[in-house]
Amino acid sequence: MSILEATKRGLRLRCPACGKGSLYQAFLTVDAKCKACTFPLKEHDAADGPAYVVMVFMSIFVITSALWLEFTYNPPAWLHVILWIPITLGGSLLLLRYVKSLFIALQYHYNAEGFRQ
Ligand SMILES: [Zn+2]
Repeated sequence: MSILEATKRGLRLRCPACGKGSLYQAFLTVDAKCKACTFPLKEHDAADGPAYVVMVFMSIFVITSALWLEFTYNPPAWLHVILWIPITLGGSLLLLRYVKSLFIALQYHYNAEGFRQ
């Protein structure tokens, strides 16, 4: 399997082994086994890596955007509060789902510890 195929499986939230079964059983809960090929998914944890990547990306995005908004339009403070809190929380949760799946797919591709095939 190529790195491109592994990336596609990760970004489509699919099993890293077959690319057909779903990776998640709930929003961020990895399924115990792939329903298509019975590959044991639960044993392979991405740990804190995805959360760190999402935190860094969202921090840079939100801080840069808030500063741009402030210096360009000078809105009232309450607008920053109602704008950036939902964007930060929603964006982080949505992005975390895809980054976690991508981490697991790349761990599988590179035969990381615990992912011996
Ligand atoms: Zn599978």
